[in-house]
Amino acid sequence: MRRITTFAVAMLLGIGTLLAHEPVKNIIFLIGDGMGLSSVSMMQLVNKYEPTIFDKAENIALQKTYSADNRVTDSAASGTALASGVKTNNTMLGMRPDLSHAESIMELAQSRGMATGVVVTTYLQHATPAAFYAHIDSRHKLAEISEQLLASKIDVAIGGGMAYFEERYGNKEEAQKAITEAGFEYIASMEELKNVDKGTRTLALVSDKEVGANSGSYLAEATTKALSLLESKSKGKRSKRGFVLMVEGSLIDSMGHANDATAQQKEMESFMQAVEVAVEYARKHPDTLVVVTADHETGGLALISANADFNLSEQGVEFKWSTGGHSAEMVPIYLYGAGAELINGIMENTELNAKLKALIK
Ligand SMILES: [Zn+2]
Repeated sequence: MRRITTFAVAMLLGIGTLLAHEPVKNIIFLIGDGMGLSSVSMMQLVNKYEPTIFDKAENIALQKTYSADNRVTDSAASGTALASGVKTNNTMLGMRPDLSHAESIMELAQSRGMATGVVVTTYLQHATPAAFYAHIDSRHKLAEISEQLLASKIDVAIGGGMAYFEERYGNKEEAQKAITEAGFEYIASMEELKNVDKGTRTLALVSDKEVGANSGSYLAEATTKALSLLESKSKGKRSKRGFVLMVEGSLIDSMGHANDATAQQKEMESFMQAVEVAVEYARKHPDTLVVVTADHETGGLALISANADFNLSEQGVEFKWSTGGHSAEMVPIYLYGAGAELINGIMENTELNAKLKALIK
C-alpha cells in the first residue's frame, strides 16, 4: 500500500513538474558576440551596481564554447553549435567536420510551421547569423552565403550586407531582382522598414556591410519590428505555432578585438536595450522564452584593481585585455519567461541548442 501511495505521489509530483512551466511557443535567442562574463561584469561596474537586465534573469547557466578542432572557438563553429547543436571546426557553418549537413533550430522551427527571423548589427552573411541558415565549409564565402540566405525559409531578416548580394548578383539592380524573386520584400532602410507590409517575407539590408558601431537604439528598434512581423506571421494562416527569433549584438566582439572598453560598453548598452525589448515581450506574452548568451569571449578582458595593493581602498578599476583574439572562457546564459527554469547548470554550447530544440519539438 505504501509503495502504491509513494508511486502515486511521485506521479503527481512528476506531472506537477511538467505542468509547472508555461508551454513554450516563441523563443527569442539573443547572442552577444564575444560577450564574456567580464563584459557583463564591466557593465555592472559602469552602472554602479544598479541592477542591469542581466541581474534580472530568472535563471542562469554556463556553457563551454570549444569547437571540434580548437579549444578557442571562432564565431562560425560556436554559431553552428548554438544554432544546430553540433561541434564543428573553426570557420565551418551549419555542417559537421565531415561536411555533413546539420539542421539548425530555424530549419526545425520552419518544419514545424513556425515563423523565423534574424536581426543583427553586422552584415547578415556574417558567421553568427549565417550559422542559423547556411551550410558551407567556409564563413568567408560571402557570395554563396548570400545565395543561401535567399534560398532559406527565414521570414524576417534585418541587418547589413547589400555589398555581398551585389558581389553575388553583379550589381544592385540584379541583387534586388534576386531578392524579390526569392519571395522577399526588399527594404533598404530603417525608415522604410517602419511601413513594411505584414503579409510579406522581409529582407531589410539597411547598410552595405556592417550596420555599424555606435548605432544606438537600432538593435532594439529592429528587434521590436521583427517581433511584430513574426507575431503577425505566426498568427496568420501560415502558422499558429509561434516563432524563433535570433538577435545578435554583433559588434561587442569587434570592440573586444580592438581592446576598446569604452566602445564595447556602447555595444553592450545597445545589446542590453534589445534584451529589454525581448524580456518585455515575454512579460506580455507568457508563452515566450528569452535566452541570452554569447558565442565565446573576446579579448580576454580582466577587471583589475588600479592600485597594485588591493587591500587599500579603491583607486579605480582598470579594464585590461590579454589578447586581440578570442579566449576559451565559459560564457553565461541568462533565461527569462516560459521554461526559464528548465535550463540551468554547466553545459556544452551544443547542449543549450538541444534543450531549445526539445522545447519546440
Ligand atoms: Zn563570435
